[in-house]
Amino acid sequence: MHVYDALIVGAGPAGSLAAYLLGKNRDVAISEEHQTAGFPVQCAGLISDMCFNRYRRYCKIEKALENRIEGAFFFSPSGNYIEAKGEAYVIERKILDKLLFEKASEVADVFVKTKVKFEESKAVLGCREIRSKSVIGADGVNSTVARCFGFERPKLFTAVQAEVRFDAIDENFVELYFGKKWSGSFFAYAIPIGDTARVGVISREGAMEYLKNLIERHPSVSKRIRGGVIELNVGAIPDRLVDFAKDNVALIGDSAGMVKPYTGGGLYYLLLAAEKLAENFPDFKGYKRAYLKELGREYEFGYKIRRLYSLDDRKMEKLFEIMKGFDFPGVHMDRPSTLQLPKSAFKIAFRLIKNPELAFSILKLLI
Ligand SMILES: Cc1cc2nc3c(=O)[nH]c(=O)nc-3n(C[C@H](O)[C@H](O)[C@H](O)COP(=O)(O)OP(=O)(O)OC[C@H]3O[C@@H](n4cnc5c(N)ncnc54)[C@H](O)[C@@H]3O)c2cc1C
Repeated sequence: MHVYDALIVGAGPAGSLAAYLLGKNRDVAISEEHQTAGFPVQCAGLISDMCFNRYRRYCKIEKALENRIEGAFFFSPSGNYIEAKGEAYVIERKILDKLLFEKASEVADVFVKTKVKFEESKAVLGCREIRSKSVIGADGVNSTVARCFGFERPKLFTAVQAEVRFDAIDENFVELYFGKKWSGSFFAYAIPIGDTARVGVISREGAMEYLKNLIERHPSVSKRIRGGVIELNVGAIPDRLVDFAKDNVALIGDSAGMVKPYTGGGLYYLLLAAEKLAENFPDFKGYKRAYLKELGREYEFGYKIRRLYSLDDRKMEKLFEIMKGFDFPGVHMDRPSTLQLPKSAFKIAFRLIKNPELAFSILKLLI
């Protein structure tokens, strides 16, 4: 019986990219439970310039391009906003997933409409058994591989997103809405594409109610939405990175919780994981070490940033007032550790000095 070097479960971006990079030099099979990759779509498609350019190495990502972004408006709970500049792109995930899947198909054996199950650690694809020296779980937040091989599971945020007609303040700026009343524990967003936008909410619970509330009552959003919902997507976002490597089983992408802690975006962090996986294969512990060396600091920083989302609305409003006109020189949206800490921390501390209550709350969250 044929024995593959690796069986990759799931053909989302993590699985397809891993299959493409590994399949160039190894004997790889990839299995996807749906008829095609990129279905159903659960993504706003926002990625940084750095991420876009890195995907370019592997596929013609420009075919998936929907909009160029020049910055973001950060909204306080009451609807005031501050502006930050930064280059990013909006891409159509259905297209990106297809492009990556085509690349994977060039070098790996592909099984579609084939849900992988495990019986006593043996992979069963429909009516056939597949033998492989290793298994890679790229099967998303509800990973079968993680469950069957005893990996710890992250908790999940729910994300609900509606495509609607939208009068953006600026078509090339994304909008982020903070405050407990708009998303509970995370934030809400609008990603403009022409005269529409993907308006979404990420939250621990009640995401659908928060989205309805945002659309109907937010002082700015509610006035700029025209007509009903064109498309609705519901998905989940892992809340933290978990252990993702055993001797001959590894996880990648959402199954491992590889998303930016402060946005839930996974496309850049999973791309770096696929590269590290291919460089280190079949040494999965080496893959884990290399990945954490590259991004461990970003996760640490990211979890700290996310803790600030739990400030109550009054303190959050104050924080927005204080941060007005503050710029974060050189900080990249995918790499929060690029914040020049001593210099920026000093400037922020100086602004916070007049608000000891807020300063104390922030310190309590960060330390
Ligand atoms: C509403 C929402 C908005 C988002 N917006 C952004 C954004 O703007 N930018 C960004 O970077 N990230 C965003 N994300 C996160 C991003 O979508 C994920 O991080 C990314 O899809 C993870 O890719 P993946 O390949 O790990 O998993 P998935 O994309 O979930 O792919 C997993 C694949 O495995 C298949 N599968 C599952 N089980 C099996 C099985 N047993 N056998 C065979 N196949 C199986 C599934 O069918 C699926 O195709 C968003 C997420 C949500 C929910």
